[in-house]
Amino acid sequence: MQDQLHALGSALESLGSGSLAVVTGAGISQASGIPTFRGSDPEAVWRQSDVTLATVDYFRRDPVGQWQWYLKRFEAVARAKPNPAHSALVDLEDWHTGRGGSYCLVTQNIDTLHEEAGSSRMIKIHGTSDRVRCSKVGCPFGSPRGSLASTDVGFEDFVASPSKQTLPTCPECSSILRAHVLFFDEYYGEHQDYRFPEAEEVAQSADVMIFVGTSFSVGITDIFLRAGILKRIPIFSIDPGAHRSSPWPDLQILPSPAEELLPELCNRLRAQKQATPAADSHP
Ligand SMILES: [Zn+2]
Repeated sequence: MQDQLHALGSALESLGSGSLAVVTGAGISQASGIPTFRGSDPEAVWRQSDVTLATVDYFRRDPVGQWQWYLKRFEAVARAKPNPAHSALVDLEDWHTGRGGSYCLVTQNIDTLHEEAGSSRMIKIHGTSDRVRCSKVGCPFGSPRGSLASTDVGFEDFVASPSKQTLPTCPECSSILRAHVLFFDEYYGEHQDYRFPEAEEVAQSADVMIFVGTSFSVGITDIFLRAGILKRIPIFSIDPGAHRSSPWPDLQILPSPAEELLPELCNRLRAQKQATPAADSHP
């Protein structure tokens, strides 16, 4: 383990002002008590719920059922607090950008823990739990650009008595509202907030990639991996559930909890800097 951590630290040290891409998935939020959609976690939502729930197809058939399911999930998300892995990524962003490097975090998570921890250069590729949008495409509050803060929408009547009549509606066109997240039967191009073209650019320009708690089962990880492998850049995956033998031989796997490993990594990077003060004083 120490060897792999050393390899990751060295890759970041020698990155200099290059481009660092971090991709996070549900695994990073598990230590904050948010169940994953998929994976070996026995609390995984994927196992508990019908695979068809998070789809636009299901939304059209049963918006009441889907909203009940999402509101339960969003409640758990709203109660959660960032864990040391989220904080360490803020530290890593500061450390790397402080050296003149470019940094971008692409998260598949819809929770708001990265923002709460203080991450600023970030793309929420699957949407966000704190906003909703109109289900009518082309409406100013719907795709491809519009959305509303969840706090501006009253779910109280719906929670008290769930029905089609109590579902919150769009202030502009009265269509029912939907979650501002990418459903499993939709594409990244559905909404500008997913910032897919920007994420593709990040994948293309990265010089080092770190995956944290991703299961490599959704589109965006594939896009990053392929870009990274093509460029032959160092690629790391921090995932306690991972097997060392990966189908991607270029991937360097660190099978440790991110909430332990990332703070340790940042401590090392900071210690390294303090140990070589002469390097900082060069013009
Ligand atoms: Zn509308």
